[in-house]
Amino acid sequence: MNGVGPRVVLATGNPGKAREIGALLAPAGLEVLSQAAFGLVSADETGATFIENALLKARHAAAGSGLPAIADDSGLVVDALGGAPGIHSARYSAEGGDAANVRKLLAELEGVSEALRGARFVCVAVLLRHPADPLPIVCEGRWEGTIAGAPRGSGGFGYDPVFIPRGEKRSAAELGPGEKNRVSHRGRAFDALLERLRYAGGSPPAGRA
Ligand code: IMP
Repeated sequence: MNGVGPRVVLATGNPGKAREIGALLAPAGLEVLSQAAFGLVSADETGATFIENALLKARHAAAGSGLPAIADDSGLVVDALGGAPGIHSARYSAEGGDAANVRKLLAELEGVSEALRGARFVCVAVLLRHPADPLPIVCEGRWEGTIAGAPRGSGGFGYDPVFIPRGEKRSAAELGPGEKNRVSHRGRAFDALLERLRYAGGSPPAGRA
């Protein structure tokens, strides 16, 4: 992965995630192309777990691009809600969109005391060398915290304005992008993925057409 790296496709249509993952992969010398550059729309997330959904997304992008594919599946797991919204985080509210999702989350937690508002972001990052890769790289990251009573801050995306990382007074949306990537679930998962790539001897093999 020295110098100009091999080309990989990033399987996401979420601009907030694409921005963060792009910054996390930049130091590795990978040339990261968006799935939209191949005319690909996002895969259906029919899996029951973060891992299954991350693999579905990556396999879809690898098949459609002929390149190795990187994907993540992520979400917010809230203790007081039995783990919801979990794998359904992106489409939690009926209306859809970040603001409506946050509103629904706060409504569900109405009256729940601060001590019981524990939650974590989870991210599973995967790299598939080709659609039939039997041994994908799979890495997980978690970011512990609590859910605030009201949104704060304008950075990040998704549930960031109501997520207070452990040991912080600020919400995730009040952290700078570099600061968030250093400690977040996504930062941890992609650090581990890059470490695994280095350990595996550098570049992912070229994709199959
Ligand atoms: P998916 O991984 O595309 O299925 O969607 C993940 C969803 O989880 C996003 O649309 C957000 O609602 C939420 N999420 C994941 N990571 C973050 C984050 O870093 N900050 C805020 N919300 C996140």
